[in-house]
Amino acid sequence: IEKTFSIIKPNSTLDNNIGNIIAHFEKNGLRIAGAKFAKLSKEKAEGFYIEHKERPFFGELVNFMTSGPVMLMVLEGENAVMKNRELMGATNPANAAEGTIRKLYAKSVGENSVHGSDSATAAEREIAYFFERSELT
Ligand code: ATP
Ligand code: MG
Repeated sequence: IEKTFSIIKPNSTLDNNIGNIIAHFEKNGLRIAGAKFAKLSKEKAEGFYIEHKERPFFGELVNFMTSGPVMLMVLEGENAVMKNRELMGATNPANAAEGTIRKLYAKSVGENSVHGSDSATAAEREIAYFFERSELT
């Protein structure tokens, strides 16, 4: 059974949508196999998004991700990586399908409510970046 990594981003923790977003995952076949509520340091956020280092929005992205608390989660289920990407919707909420998390809760392409691993390889790296094996159930 597959695992993926998810972050509820600061716009949604500050809007009190943590419960709504977790309910969305649970109603759609994704189980929480690990979770931490935290405020990311600049160094931790930069390391997480290292693949975007040269993109023009990198500074803005790191500032946003450290601007408030985040919910870090490991989600488990059948085809968890793809399932989570479907539930999230398009990166830009203006393009996100009806009923997706980003359509429901995101404010903009930057403040887009959730992160989700885009492949099984990414999921493995991202889970290991935040969680010890012993912290997963
Ligand atoms: P995520 O990796 O957060 O799940 P994603 O895979 O849909 O989102 P990426 O292309 O990996 O999108 O971009 C990572 C994040 O960078 C996006 O979620 C978004 O918050 C931010 N981002 C992407 N494009 C822009 C942009 N043009 N302006 C501002 N922020 C952006
Ligand atoms: Mg991505």
